[in-house]
Amino acid sequence: MSDVAVWFDLDGTLLAFDDYGAVVEHACVEMGIDPTDAFLEAYYDRFFDAFRNYHPDPFRAGVERAVMATGSYVDAVAFVDTIREAEFDAAKVPEAVHDALAELEAADGVALGVLTNGLEEWQRGKLEANELLGYFDATLTSYEVGRHKPAPEVFARAEKLLPADEHVMVGDDDEADVAGARERGWRAIHVDGPESVGDAVARIR
Ligand SMILES: [Mg+2]
Repeated sequence: MSDVAVWFDLDGTLLAFDDYGAVVEHACVEMGIDPTDAFLEAYYDRFFDAFRNYHPDPFRAGVERAVMATGSYVDAVAFVDTIREAEFDAAKVPEAVHDALAELEAADGVALGVLTNGLEEWQRGKLEANELLGYFDATLTSYEVGRHKPAPEVFARAEKLLPADEHVMVGDDDEADVAGARERGWRAIHVDGPESVGDAVARIR
């Protein structure tokens, strides 16, 4: 049992994306498809609907819908691989995030976790690709729980993974991270992005 378990959101908290919208557009261009408004709208509509409903592959569902809506042809599996590559490439981690996590990791009585809305394999893959996975004692994605933050079930599962006297959530989303954590009786610290993770960590200690 730790004194404190500190949980970090992933996208927009540990990882910065200058322009997430560019990820799918970039994948279109790579696959030889014109990223028209009609294609992107069909993709995102279906993607978000599938994601909200824990579809096993919301990316593929989005691509298939966009292809159908626009009469374009593309290999959906190859397209999803390309989106993944583009998303992984677009994610940036400032050195300050590594410094803050290393400091917490070395502190006594502190356990570290990642609590993220997303697919297990993608989110863990992004942590690994950015050399972040090693700092953490646990990772938990909403897909594993079958509920997205701010649902209390996600935070309850996290408490079981890292038993601690106190749980702290650090995240960039007022609803999913901050309100969800407080509802469960956790402390929550809002960050504007990876650049403010250092300040957030300083407030924990
Ligand atoms: Mg976020």
